[in-house]
Amino acid sequence: MKTAITGYPRVGTLRELKFATEKYLEGGLSKAELQDTAALLRKNHWQTQKENGIDFLPSNDFSFYDNMLDAAVLLNVVPKRYHDLRLDRLDEYFAMARGYQGANGDVKALAMKKWFNTNYHYIVPEIEDDTRISLVGTKPFDEFTEAKSLGITTKPVIIGAFTFLKLAKTTGNKTPVDFAADVITAYAEILNQFNDLGAEWIQFDEPALVMDLTADDIILFNKIYSEILLAKGSIKVLLQTYFGDIRDCYQEVVSLPLAGIGLDFVEGQNTLELVKRNGFPAGKILFAGVVNGKNIWRNNYDKTMNILAELKKFSAGIVLSTSCSLLHAPYSLKNESALADEYKKYFAFAEEKLSELAELKRIMSGDRPAEIPEYIENARLFKASRFHPEVSVQAAVSALEQEDFIRHPAFEEREKIQKALFNLPLLPTTTIGSFPQTREVKSNRSNYKNGKITFEQYTRFNQEKIAECVALQEKIGLDVLVHGEFERNDMVEYFGERLDGFLFTEKAWVQSYGTRCVKPPIIWGDISRSRPITIDYIVYAQSLTRKYMKGMLTGPVTILNWSFPREDISLQESALQIALAIRAEVLDLEANGIKIIQIDEAALREKLPLRKSDWHSEYLDWAIPAFRLVHSGVKAQTQIHTHMCYSEFSDIIRDIDDMDADVITFEASRSDLTIINVLNQCGFKTEVGPGVYDIHSPRIPSAEEIKIALFKMLEKTPPEKLWVNPDCGLKTRGNAETVPSLENLVDAAQEVRRSLQP
Ligand code: GLN
Ligand code: ZN
Repeated sequence: MKTAITGYPRVGTLRELKFATEKYLEGGLSKAELQDTAALLRKNHWQTQKENGIDFLPSNDFSFYDNMLDAAVLLNVVPKRYHDLRLDRLDEYFAMARGYQGANGDVKALAMKKWFNTNYHYIVPEIEDDTRISLVGTKPFDEFTEAKSLGITTKPVIIGAFTFLKLAKTTGNKTPVDFAADVITAYAEILNQFNDLGAEWIQFDEPALVMDLTADDIILFNKIYSEILLAKGSIKVLLQTYFGDIRDCYQEVVSLPLAGIGLDFVEGQNTLELVKRNGFPAGKILFAGVVNGKNIWRNNYDKTMNILAELKKFSAGIVLSTSCSLLHAPYSLKNESALADEYKKYFAFAEEKLSELAELKRIMSGDRPAEIPEYIENARLFKASRFHPEVSVQAAVSALEQEDFIRHPAFEEREKIQKALFNLPLLPTTTIGSFPQTREVKSNRSNYKNGKITFEQYTRFNQEKIAECVALQEKIGLDVLVHGEFERNDMVEYFGERLDGFLFTEKAWVQSYGTRCVKPPIIWGDISRSRPITIDYIVYAQSLTRKYMKGMLTGPVTILNWSFPREDISLQESALQIALAIRAEVLDLEANGIKIIQIDEAALREKLPLRKSDWHSEYLDWAIPAFRLVHSGVKAQTQIHTHMCYSEFSDIIRDIDDMDADVITFEASRSDLTIINVLNQCGFKTEVGPGVYDIHSPRIPSAEEIKIALFKMLEKTPPEKLWVNPDCGLKTRGNAETVPSLENLVDAAQEVRRSLQP
């Protein structure tokens, strides 16, 4: 048995690529220096893989920004507006990725979207009617040759033609299918060139095959591969799938003249079943994705060996592989000096996953696997209990009953009670929570963290900021106030650090998009809240004003989705544990006189399963109740708000209403208001605050344009249901643009209000 990986992280263990790229873009590094950094990283990564016993090493998994964008550039899919900038290739590439403003012109970046069910984002290629798709780039060949000159024969990796066409968008009259013939020709040419270069294998990544496929999709897929593969020559083509199983096209895939097929046995719920039921063609190699490419936990060898034992019955040629690219895992435990070994021994980051593959190979090639020391050690690890369970937390979750998830009285009655009680004006104005995080706000936090100031000093500073923020909001004339979140950096990190059961790393960065990385906390044990988290600051903020102050919390689904989850219990179980902890905080806020409580679920939509048929059974059926559990215990007089980033929830609109919040605010200023129509059509009951201006841009919106936006919304939304607020939190903005923007927002709301009142 041999070992392979689908791809490796590229940003560098210390995020070298991020820093070099940012420096280059600011003009502090030359092109050659940036290229050198990149080449050095590639070399290190190949060496690490070699040293850790990997047989099939990927190349072209490197990228300066994104592999989808790399594929677009390779195929000449460069919209005219970028071409017209007349930049060199690398700068044109960055212009597509990040936008360009300078001597050669002013263009926005291409759109960015979430990469399947990961937190990684890809650049959406844009094909124009007159785009001439053809192989014009050299990156995959250059990197293959580069590795070869280091003595390493790699397996080049390229986004497959089907996935490319499925994810690309067309801007004119043509559809992606109209470009299929050109794409096929270009991919055939890729195979020709790799034949000339003496490549043995090539990997085409086709994650789009794990989605729900239509009959037309399957026809397109068949057409693409039956034609491309005519050009394979002596190259072995590996069709790599990941993030799920290929239940809609298994037969088609195994019937193609491929040399290898990569299947995901981790996230692919039906993968093993598909192989068992349909068999696996003799003579082809099965790249078995058995080591999870996304998580941070050690592989359970016993379980993996069981899968492999089954697979051996169907295929004589198995290569041990990762379930997906290791891009989605942090680099290495070697960088974690603060994490104790008692924790570390349970973890495997990318580098450790390489050695897991090598260990599995060793174990599987012996006659008596159970006697191999690595196996014994692994089995011991999984047999021992990892931590002391919080019996009371587990008991509280299992004691939950249907009633615990239902808030009384029903929405309509609460709405009446709250309208009478709060006596807010029509179109109440508010913000999403955070106010600008100025340099002094950030250094207050870091000074406290580094022990440079005392807790008292730290707290006093935050209180001063809160007081300023409250005074500012009163002066601007907002109706429902916030405290400003000066004590928080990342909201999930903030709550994670204050709840029991989380672990934090120093360097476990994972690429989110371009040069941006995130460092998710790890859910280690049962989650509980041992003491109040936000009460002091919120109560203090409320004491400064007679207006209503919103309590500000993060919801369980978002905390879970932005962490590395446990694998020994279900996501549902973890979500309910977190929900109970946040519920206690909600009830404490209420008991301390806070009348409006916002529970952010910014990331609710993020982990929606890839297949529609799984949406409810695998996710929404517990995610929505977990949110309801957080607030079901409050009085009718307490108003619950929630906030979601993006308004892309038309397709789950009923589930959003089912969260049973009293008010939901969401990002809407960049969308075309279709969401407002959808809300209207489905009779959405929750009061809504679609963002009236984009906080991602430093632009100050005029009162006039906000008024226009509000009148548009009022065409489809009854005034009693409408709130007025920005798109999202203001923490990334400066005060210079925030203050006038909010002033204009309040002016606009007041004017519209006047026009509504007879
Ligand atoms: N309350 C948070 C803030 O205003 C919400 C952030 C978010 O939606 N991502 O910053
Ligand atoms: Zn948001």
